[in-house]
Amino acid sequence: MKQRRVGLYGGTFDPVHAGHIAVARALLELFALDEVLFIPAHVAPHKRSTVRQPASPLHRYAMLVLATMAEPRLKVSTVELDAPERPYTVETLARLRTEYGASARLFFVMGADSWADITTWREWERLLALTEQIVMTRPGYTLATGHVTDEVRRRIVDLRGRTGAEVAAALEAATGEPRIYFTDAVSSDVSATAIRQFARASEMNAAAELLVPPAVAEYIRKYRVYRNTHDSERNNVEEQPAHDD
Ligand code: ATP
Repeated sequence: MKQRRVGLYGGTFDPVHAGHIAVARALLELFALDEVLFIPAHVAPHKRSTVRQPASPLHRYAMLVLATMAEPRLKVSTVELDAPERPYTVETLARLRTEYGASARLFFVMGADSWADITTWREWERLLALTEQIVMTRPGYTLATGHVTDEVRRRIVDLRGRTGAEVAAALEAATGEPRIYFTDAVSSDVSATAIRQFARASEMNAAAELLVPPAVAEYIRKYRVYRNTHDSERNNVEEQPAHDD
């Protein structure tokens, strides 16, 4: 019997956009996943900044639900929103590993920008050992390997340019330590930052509407989600807890 395969897609999703949805759809097919679980962070720990607060978790969750409603294999998890005292990705993955059981194949999904920062994440080497990983190319970011240890680098499987059959064979062949798969199945330069800028400047005009699912554009407009906020330069910092330990 085929093992259950689940994609775990963490992020701020402020808001969810066409790039996220394209990544999830492509991975369902290419990696033969049974489902992709979007896991909105209370506040992405590695992106926490004193300057810009993300839109409320309720808004971000609602937009994710609207964006995925018609697609049964795309789901939204409240695991991090329900437990804001446990903000680290490594803790979330450990918890999901327990919930799904050892027999499920879990793939944590991230973009090339997140991969570039991975060594700043809390217990990053343990994180990379808890599940398999899928790293998606993103325009403007190179997929480097120089920042990780030899042990981690040895587990990278570069699937860029590979066909579905080749990816299937690589997944079948993988045994032992969890692999880190690089893929270029999607090339989307949409970012949440750009959408927030559009939303602030013009209340979601026609161009911006192509960058988010229609119901999300409608939601942003209706609830004026980004009208009274501003982005500032954010530095990537080591994952910090939302509270004093
Ligand atoms: P922001 O512009 O606010 O930094 P973002 O567009 O990067 O946001 P996030 O919610 O931070 O969106 O992204 C969640 C995850 O999805 C991250 O791992 C990120 O690398 C990945 N991701 C986001 N957009 C893309 C994209 N266009 N292509 C590939 N991966 C992406």
